[in-house]
Amino acid sequence: VEGDSRGPKGLRLLLLGAPGSGKGTQASALSSRLCVPAISTGEMLREAVAEGSELGERISGLLASGELVDDATMRQVVQRRLDKPDTERGFMLDGYPRTIDQAHALDEILSSSGEGLDAAIQIEVPEEELVRRALARRREDDREDIVRRRLAVYRDKTRPVAEFYRDRGLLVEVDGDQPIVRVTEAILSALGVAA
Ligand code: AMP
Repeated sequence: VEGDSRGPKGLRLLLLGAPGSGKGTQASALSSRLCVPAISTGEMLREAVAEGSELGERISGLLASGELVDDATMRQVVQRRLDKPDTERGFMLDGYPRTIDQAHALDEILSSSGEGLDAAIQIEVPEEELVRRALARRREDDREDIVRRRLAVYRDKTRPVAEFYRDRGLLVEVDGDQPIVRVTEAILSALGVAA
């Protein structure tokens, strides 16, 4: 990784991984350690639903069923968030991009401000462990059929995103089937930051 959070550009990171891989947990841990905001698109969308905004009304069914929100809507959501000044010194995106089209959109969003990404971190967890974690969590959208649907969507649409970044030499793969702090350490060490 070139540059770090103290440099003028900061770190621009993506957290990839299946639902239940621990992306959100790692995003908060890394965000405070690296001094960059953690941006979770899933959380932003759930907030929109809770607020009952126009966007929220439109997407609540998709969220409940484990389907993806369309790429054009996601582009707007992310563009608007990355326009905020707190991302000037870097950011960590958790849950975006989730399709190849979104990866291209992110390129366009970033290139309009002359920015590039530093790394895409893929947190690897075996599928049965993902199902076990999701059912233990028992959120409303964590019913087993919906959990399996979310994993299938991940396999079909999101998995190829990792390959997209691998081709660019940006992919960092980390074993997510170990204690939370070990995962954080593995990511920091892969980024060349002392834990
Ligand atoms: P998450 O908390 O990241 O698992 O996201 C929860 C839900 O929000 C997902 O199941 C999708 O319905 C939606 N979502 C979050 N991020 C995206 C995205 N980048 N593209 C499409 N849908 C998304």
